Amino acid sequence: MAISVPLPLSPPPMAEANEELRDSVRERGETGSVHSWELVTAVDGPGSRLTVFLAGCALRCQYCQNPDTWRMSNGVRHTVAEVMEKVARYEKVLKATGGGLTVSGGEPLLQADFVERIFHEAKKLNIHTALDTSGFLGARASNDLLHDTDLVLLDVKSGDPEIYRQVTGRALEPTLDFGRRLSAQGITIWLRYVLVPGLTDTVENVAAVAEYAGSLDTVERVEVLPFHQMGRDKWTALKQEYTLADTEPPSAELIQRVRDQFAEHGLTVF
Ligand code: SF4
Repeated sequence: MAISVPLPLSPPPMAEANEELRDSVRERGETGSVHSWELVTAVDGPGSRLTVFLAGCALRCQYCQNPDTWRMSNGVRHTVAEVMEKVARYEKVLKATGGGLTVSGGEPLLQADFVERIFHEAKKLNIHTALDTSGFLGARASNDLLHDTDLVLLDVKSGDPEIYRQVTGRALEPTLDFGRRLSAQGITIWLRYVLVPGLTDTVENVAAVAEYAGSLDTVERVEVLPFHQMGRDKWTALKQEYTLADTEPPSAELIQRVRDQFAEHGLTVF
């Protein structure tokens, strides 16, 4: 059966993404661009979590639910102290539920210095820290940042480099390198895979991700996330062409097949 693969979006040149970095680098992470906050339970890590969404992303995933986070200028500048004030407000509930702080985006590693400072402060309070990342900018995560990171939610968007580029506009290898580095440093990974019919669902593509996940020592769970249309209105509001407008969510059978493919590698699958 022929598989129709929608055309990729064009991500900004890295020079433009680097331009967005300039402020945060100059200030060495004292302030960062925060898009929004959310108090959640049973997503983005264990327990109840304060999730901080940072603005800015170097990828342009076709199924992105939050295209409004793509540009760093779409956030509000906050100091580390301001973020920690908010964290402290929820400290009791986060700890009582075995939860913690998650930094997501956008792509948090676009502001790696800022995340490093926030996590360092959180660990002083003995708060669990989770980093939700595509891993594309993993090389920008310092060892100090990883030292203060308890969990990485690693979004591996494809196992096939060509499909990865079709999905995100970028290269796959930096993500794979980052996962190997996390594994070597003993950092727990929850690997996430967004299942999109007609785009990421081929047996070969899933097998490549499953084999990779199985090769790492610290993958505690794999989350297969079925594609849905919940981000669609944001694309329309931003006047961006949404290539997955006609894509249906995966069937229960397809989701099960993909979960089974991961389980074959001895992985715990959700
Ligand atoms: S990495 Fe995340 S925020 Fe960035 S485009 Fe992809 S889905 Fe959207």
